[in-house]
Amino acid sequence: MTDINSIPTSPSSLPAIDAPPAANVSPGVGAWLGEAIAQLVACWRDPGASEAQAGLFRGRQYHAVLMAMVTSGLGNLFTVVVLSALFWSRADHGALIAWMAAVAVSALFNAWLGWRRRGITVVPAASQRTIVLFSADIALAALAFASMPWYLFGTVGSDGRTLVMSILVAFLLIGSWMMAYLPLAAIAWALTLCAGSVITLLASDTPFFNYCAMLMAFLGLVAVATVLITSRIFLGSLKSEAQIEQQKQVVGLLLNDFEEHASDWLWETDRRGRLRHVATRLAHSLGVAPQDLQGRSLVGVISSMSADLRRADQARFKLLSHHLSADVPFRDVVVPALVSGELQWWSLTGKPLRDEHGHVVGWRGVGSDISPQWRHEQELIRLANEDALTGLANRYKFKRSLDEFFRKSESPLLAPLPCTLFLFDLDNFKTLNDSLGHAVGDQLLVEVARRLSLEMRRDELLARLGGDEFVVLVPGQLQADDAAAFGQRMQAALNQPWTVQGRRIVIHASIGVGFAPQDASSADQLLRVVDLALYAAKAAGRHTLRFFEPTMARQANHKLNVLSDMTQGLQRSEFFLHYQPQIDIHSGAPLGFEALVRWQHPLRGLIPPVEFIPIAEESGQIEALGEWVLRRACLDAAQWPAHLRVAVNLSALQFQSPDLLKVIKGALTHSGLPASRLELELTESALFQDDARAVQTLQALRALGIRIALDDFGTGYSSMSYLRKFALDKLKIDRSFIAALDSDKVDASALAIVQAIIHLAQALHMETTAEGVETQVGLDTLKRMGCAQAQGFLVARPMGVEQTQAFIASFTPTQIEN
Ligand code: C2E
Ligand code: CA
Ligand code: CA
Repeated sequence: MTDINSIPTSPSSLPAIDAPPAANVSPGVGAWLGEAIAQLVACWRDPGASEAQAGLFRGRQYHAVLMAMVTSGLGNLFTVVVLSALFWSRADHGALIAWMAAVAVSALFNAWLGWRRRGITVVPAASQRTIVLFSADIALAALAFASMPWYLFGTVGSDGRTLVMSILVAFLLIGSWMMAYLPLAAIAWALTLCAGSVITLLASDTPFFNYCAMLMAFLGLVAVATVLITSRIFLGSLKSEAQIEQQKQVVGLLLNDFEEHASDWLWETDRRGRLRHVATRLAHSLGVAPQDLQGRSLVGVISSMSADLRRADQARFKLLSHHLSADVPFRDVVVPALVSGELQWWSLTGKPLRDEHGHVVGWRGVGSDISPQWRHEQELIRLANEDALTGLANRYKFKRSLDEFFRKSESPLLAPLPCTLFLFDLDNFKTLNDSLGHAVGDQLLVEVARRLSLEMRRDELLARLGGDEFVVLVPGQLQADDAAAFGQRMQAALNQPWTVQGRRIVIHASIGVGFAPQDASSADQLLRVVDLALYAAKAAGRHTLRFFEPTMARQANHKLNVLSDMTQGLQRSEFFLHYQPQIDIHSGAPLGFEALVRWQHPLRGLIPPVEFIPIAEESGQIEALGEWVLRRACLDAAQWPAHLRVAVNLSALQFQSPDLLKVIKGALTHSGLPASRLELELTESALFQDDARAVQTLQALRALGIRIALDDFGTGYSSMSYLRKFALDKLKIDRSFIAALDSDKVDASALAIVQAIIHLAQALHMETTAEGVETQVGLDTLKRMGCAQAQGFLVARPMGVEQTQAFIASFTPTQIEN
């Protein structure tokens, strides 16, 4: 069998054109005929196709031809009737009627074949036999026409013959062209019609008609060649159509396979978002039959199942609808779907389908149930935004909301949005936490969160920034009075007594308040501003509310400057010590000296410790400074007579430092000063922080032989219980009580307090030192009351190292040599 590709593609390349009429057969013509027959066979049985496929191709070819049969049948009938009418007077009536009848039967039969096919959508396959029979039927019809010249030529005259000839040529060409899809039938038609006419024309005695016969034969061959070419093109398109169909099925199979094995499903909608080609998996996911979804809106179907959802979740459908109307691809749009009572989360990705003009004609995409990942993600988001203990917004979330608030304000077209920020810090929370345990501390924070939440309005944002710090953001313009009232309302809510572990606890808070845009133009600035206000509130004695004032920022700036200068100051040795004697109240002889640090600032001159010690404590610088003081004081004291002690002030932070013992031992070893000559002055706040650890540290220090004095006694908690708990060597009665004794008009209550402290110290076997003794009257009173030691301007002001040496030397040489 010949390859289909070898079929000549243009009529001019056909050998038949140059060949003599068919009767004159030569070997070249034989080969050509053989090939032509092979082509013919190939025309209804494609070598590359299976029998079933070939049958389908034949069916399509046959059908294409039958579709034209009704028109052509009626056309034939009409032609025959017109011709018979024209030739009625000139031809034999019997022959004419027989011819008319033959053509009519054939035309009606073929028209009926075509008529039967109307409305058919699925074209059936056709067997080879059907094609052969149909071709035979066509050949018979052709024969009926071809016989025309036989009985008409003799009688109709030359004009009649011309008419007959032209009709035959027309029928040859129209018929071949109409049936070109089915080459066997077309060739049967062309060859029969041609052969019949050629034979009758050749039989004619006129040479003109003999030439006509040759022309007819030539036209017949051209018709056959055209048929072969047309049919080949038609068969080619049938084959590619079949291929596309096959690919579609393969793709369909793959997709089905994909659907069965993946958790994803495909969806397709028309321009208006109505589902078409509903995938089984989608229907299955929704728990309905695919045909029930056909034509329904995708968004509508999913959202109707989720009607009971929260408004925020419902809003997701708006987003999806928005995407579908925007005509641009979208990715991973998540929507809730309530499937048989279970809330699922579906992610949809889609892309618009466009026609050849680029107009969107629909949508296609994938969807998948991402519920587990979604829940996991949501949990992570929740954890990242929520304070785990109280469930309030955390610092991160709050900061974002505040940034968002300011971003809205940033538009140059709009006036800045006003808001007020309240920063709360619980008073003494650390102490409560340390003394009652962290579990109680946590409960307390939860309770604070609950109480504050109850006071919040819808548009107010409450958050916990961490530790015992809470913030409230109140949008809108608040007057100072309103803000103060708001703060009082919060305080009142917190002040309600709270019972835990059988104890009544009252919570107080210090509050810092800042206004935007007056005080700050950014989120960070506003947070800084309320922080400063809170700091001022705490400094003002806690349980208070403070509004931010610009001076606070200046002070903070000043603090920052001091801090950076202090680091340099330590390196450049700008710090030095003054010593103030502590004397035996009876003999007046010095027992030791208190070391007091001084800072000689290169620009600002001498800075007193009250200005820089608190800053050093806040910033942690105190450890480095304190270590330097200790080492210097020990070195200086080592130069003094052996009976003189040195007292060094320790700040709370230093006392709590895990390095304390190491630092002290280092200072002692480095200076060679015996531990018994070192006294440490601590304030009550240092001891109060962590009972157990404080006791441990004190024991360790005393084990080394170091003495401990309690500084500023009477101003703090002054609790009896811990005076017993901590082993102390000395109480230093605060300057404020002593000042009250100095004047002539003695303050009776101060007198009573000082007397009580002295008695208490005696009872607990502790020494007492009165601080800030400025007058002889005061000194005499203290002496009478039994106070052992005194320190103050009356004796001497704090003085430099050399003056100290001179002070020591001013006492009797025997005393000094001791
Ligand atoms: P403090 O421990 O109570 O020190 C005594 C303060 O009282 C000193 O002030 C001293 O000059 C002052 N003073 C002494 N006698 C009189 C008097 O008769 N009348 C009056 N009005 N004042 C008197 P100074 O030196 O300004 O120190 C202030 C505070 O700074 C100290 O109070 C102490 O708490 C702290 N401080 C000083 N040096 C150090 C240090 O090296 N480390 C630490 N942590 N704190 C220090
Ligand atoms: Ca002191
Ligand atoms: Ca003091």
